Amino acid sequence: MIIVMKPGAPVEECNKIKMGLEKQGFYINESRGVNFCILGVVGDTSMVDKRRISANDWVEKIMAVQEPYKRANRLFHPENTIVDVCGQKIGGKKLAIIAGPCSIETTVQMNTVASAVKAAGANFLRGGAFKPRTSPYSFQGLKEQGLDMLVEAGENNRLPIVTEIMSIDKIEKFVECVDVIQVGARNMQNFELLKELGKTNVPILLKRGLSATIEEWLMSAEYIMSGGNDNVILCERGIRTFETYTRNTLDLSAIPAVKRLSHLPVIVDPSHAAGMWWMVEPLAKAAVAVGADGLMIEVHNDPENAWCDGGQSLKPERFADLMQELKKIAAIVDREI
Ligand code: PEP
Ligand code: MN
Repeated sequence: MIIVMKPGAPVEECNKIKMGLEKQGFYINESRGVNFCILGVVGDTSMVDKRRISANDWVEKIMAVQEPYKRANRLFHPENTIVDVCGQKIGGKKLAIIAGPCSIETTVQMNTVASAVKAAGANFLRGGAFKPRTSPYSFQGLKEQGLDMLVEAGENNRLPIVTEIMSIDKIEKFVECVDVIQVGARNMQNFELLKELGKTNVPILLKRGLSATIEEWLMSAEYIMSGGNDNVILCERGIRTFETYTRNTLDLSAIPAVKRLSHLPVIVDPSHAAGMWWMVEPLAKAAVAVGADGLMIEVHNDPENAWCDGGQSLKPERFADLMQELKKIAAIVDREI
């Protein structure tokens, strides 16, 4: 619920309403300009007596906010959020390019890929240590040992690292050594995990769930933000549709939609969307063209022998070519790589 005060409403009047609602247990997100005051009431406002509030002469109008997310809502935060990761900004003019293998395999593999993607212009290094695999018999990731390899490759190449967390008990370790904590598609609605991540201040890359609507996705962001962590980056990675040709269907329309609804940065992962390496380039270009704030791309030095997702991974040379192509698209939409 949003309470719009009349232009020039005295501060005391705004405070009176604000305190009244706070007493009832609501959190008030206040937006104040030179001449206006807007109160965003966070919580279930269905039981609030709106008539009583509008009895105050200084109340211009009360609007029910359709969207149940508040902190992620652009209404309360008109400017784009720019997440700062070790000095690298996500959500500004410069695109965030996160590249690296699906899973961390060896020190040599990580360092080879890291130096190649760095040379090509990537500004973040990815790699999975804890892998959410459909089959319990598939490789599950090198876990802590893999994390150490990723940290080392990131340090050697001066690249902040992005990696996926799957359980609450690993948060302490991740907070210590990971620059951006990824919540994978399968955990987008692991609410207990989201709540705990909300208590940290580490940037969270929140992937869209396999069958999640945009609103459900933003509600998951809200879970993290309601705990106090506003450093959320959204990632569209394809959704499940009736189409089986591609691994998932990349929902490019989600980018302008999310940009309109929310102030949070949103990036695109064309690798998991397509599931095929040759489709990564056109989808990456399209993502930049529709306004994505960055990309997450799987790159492997030897895709044919990759332990996971080799078929959708780009070889370093192809990634370098793609980066050159992306520069042209970026320039057209007034972005930089
Ligand atoms: C990944 O990025 O390694 C991954 C498993 O992606 P998603 O959660 O989007 O399937
Ligand atoms: Mn993968």
